[in-house]
Amino acid sequence: MKMISYNKEVKLRKEVDVIVCGGGPAGIGAAIASARQGMDVALIESRPFLGGNITASYVESCNYFLWQGPFELTGIYKELEEEYRREFGNSDDIRTDFSPHRFSSEYLKIFLDKKIEEEGIWLRLHTRVVDVIRDNKAVKGVIINSKSGFEAILGKVVIDCTGDGDVAAEAGVPFEQGRESDGLTQPGTVNFRVAGIDTERVKKILDEKGIDYFYDIYNQKVAEGIIDMGYKRKNFPMGRLTAGGQISYINFCNVYKIDPTDADDLSRAEQLARKRVLKFFTFLKEYLPGFEKAELASIAPTIGFRDSRRIKGEYRLTAEDIDKERIFEDTIAIYPRFYDMLSPTGTWDDLVYIVDLDKEYGIPYRCLLPVGIEQLLVAGRCISTDHLAESSIRAISACMATGQAAGTAAAIAISENTSVKNINVRKLQQALREAGVRL
Ligand SMILES: Cc1cc2nc3c(=O)[nH]c(=O)nc-3n(C[C@H](O)[C@H](O)[C@H](O)COP(=O)(O)OP(=O)(O)OC[C@H]3O[C@@H](n4cnc5c(N)ncnc54)[C@H](O)[C@@H]3O)c2cc1C
Repeated sequence: MKMISYNKEVKLRKEVDVIVCGGGPAGIGAAIASARQGMDVALIESRPFLGGNITASYVESCNYFLWQGPFELTGIYKELEEEYRREFGNSDDIRTDFSPHRFSSEYLKIFLDKKIEEEGIWLRLHTRVVDVIRDNKAVKGVIINSKSGFEAILGKVVIDCTGDGDVAAEAGVPFEQGRESDGLTQPGTVNFRVAGIDTERVKKILDEKGIDYFYDIYNQKVAEGIIDMGYKRKNFPMGRLTAGGQISYINFCNVYKIDPTDADDLSRAEQLARKRVLKFFTFLKEYLPGFEKAELASIAPTIGFRDSRRIKGEYRLTAEDIDKERIFEDTIAIYPRFYDMLSPTGTWDDLVYIVDLDKEYGIPYRCLLPVGIEQLLVAGRCISTDHLAESSIRAISACMATGQAAGTAAAIAISENTSVKNINVRKLQQALREAGVRL
């Protein structure tokens, strides 16, 4: 591709201690953790609301796999979920066959606005981080772009919680993407919401026959040749069912072989996914009992991705580490062994779904430390792992846990006037324990 260069002076908008890029689960954990350690924090989010995939892609049922297991969530995730529950209860959901770890994406937006304000965090929505300011090997700040134009924010530590590792990639840190054999990621998914459901009827079916009843109808119609989505998927998880006749999301419409970091691919994927939403919605309306009067209430604001860049860090967590239940000296989060890898090709051949809640592994701090650069941390689904291990650490509460660790580490480094790579990890672990994290 032909390249051109340009030079620009930008306004200095703010100087803070910690800059958190991205306000999804990881960014929320990072920003709150840093603020609670007395740091002046700027949180930059490209969308008009916080929550990442939960709110932008209707991924409302966080950690569904933990539902019936003994694993206990701790730290900021646990606290936020409990606080949310006290305020919004079951989010109008009347399902009894569904994970308790669920939110309404709409109530959550409001909840997170309030939370971030209470924690004294400076929040900029509608603003994309587009570049980093470097002084030799150390990151000194970021360049942001919004309706206000290009601006700079300076900080002592930058935490990349963009999901896609945008900031680390922009800073020139090497990364991997997709599976090791061919670079393919899991599919992108566009969730959609339906209204006009016969709530009583659908609830009765869910209570008495379970959600498999609906899946069986779909699989039967596939076998009869009545519907062909162009890819193989047996189930279509459904979100909250409300007395008002809404199903808050249906997770089924996938697009394959998309590069989540390529805007041309993304444009094509959104358009193709919307066609699939219409096709699948029309099928549901025609064939599922209780859906006869359904209407397509909304399509999620954006296609959601489960994986993209994985930033090269001081340590690369592998599936073998998870299988062998390795706990590292610099463990900053404990998680149960679980993999949820949707087929990158839309076939039955390459999906992995294992939930083994009796086994636990540690996520090392070194996975949050990108190689070859100072004062930059990564958290969330873009930390340093292999492809299969990413399908475990991408769970929402795990992303918030790595965010909490990164935010705490940044504060320790700043307080002790040292680099994030040189902090005393025992101190970090102690601070996390004091904040309620089980290690
Ligand atoms: C369809 C689907 C279903 C899923 N189901 C589940 C599930 O049931 N349970 C579960 O636990 N997990 C599930 N996941 C995975 C989970 O949603 C993600 O792994 C998790 O949200 C990642 O958190 P994150 O904070 O790392 O990134 P994200 O949630 O992607 O958040 C990143 C944030 O950064 C912002 N951002 C990105 N780039 C920039 C930039 N350059 N500048 C400023 N801001 C930026 C984004 O707008 C976003 O708000 C699912 C994912 C998908 C797509």
